[in-house]
Amino acid sequence: MLYASEHPLVHLKVTELRDVQTRPPRFRELVRELSLLLGYEALRGLPLVPRSVRTPLTVAPGYELHVTVGLVPILRAGLGMVDAFLTLVPKAEVWHLGLYRDEETLRPVEYYNRLSTGQPPSGDEVHSWVLLDPMLATGGSAIAAIDVLRRTGRRPLTYVGLIAAPEGVRALEGAHPDVDIYVGAVDSHLNEHGYIVPGLGDAGDRQFST
Ligand code: URA
Repeated sequence: MLYASEHPLVHLKVTELRDVQTRPPRFRELVRELSLLLGYEALRGLPLVPRSVRTPLTVAPGYELHVTVGLVPILRAGLGMVDAFLTLVPKAEVWHLGLYRDEETLRPVEYYNRLSTGQPPSGDEVHSWVLLDPMLATGGSAIAAIDVLRRTGRRPLTYVGLIAAPEGVRALEGAHPDVDIYVGAVDSHLNEHGYIVPGLGDAGDRQFST
């Protein structure tokens, strides 16, 4: 399922994010603010169990999470989305995954994988996984990341990004049709260098001034 936000606040923030005049400090704020708005939507299916709470007047019915949320930010650019998701779900775990894109082949190359070196805490095995990667370009990194999660039996899974290319959406839907995709915008196309057009340039460089 593809969810491309139509919310006016998302449109406004994506516009500012794209602007070449937007400097890294504001760019990072916008990545965080968009992650909050998109995260709110993407996490709407989180399972809850009843938990009553004592108010100053009486006991009220309430809820608590039935799963542990596992956030998987793809380094580097996904790092800027983590803080917003931890604001939404403070107890979430963060499982970093380092993938860079080979500029010639445009294929993802894995250089750090906390998922293969660490295990979720025992006795707390029920997870809901969320992949954080701002730009869904060719889809190569997202597919490689989901392959890693699947190989280790980690599901269900939701992808959250800021901007997608139609090529990336098609590739991800083709490879993993059960993954829900939440983005702030779907753009026109990819250029010959694998950049999203109109896009915003390199999401990592623009966040980290490199
Ligand atoms: N990664 C980016 O940061 N930007 C793009 O346009 C494509 C991939």
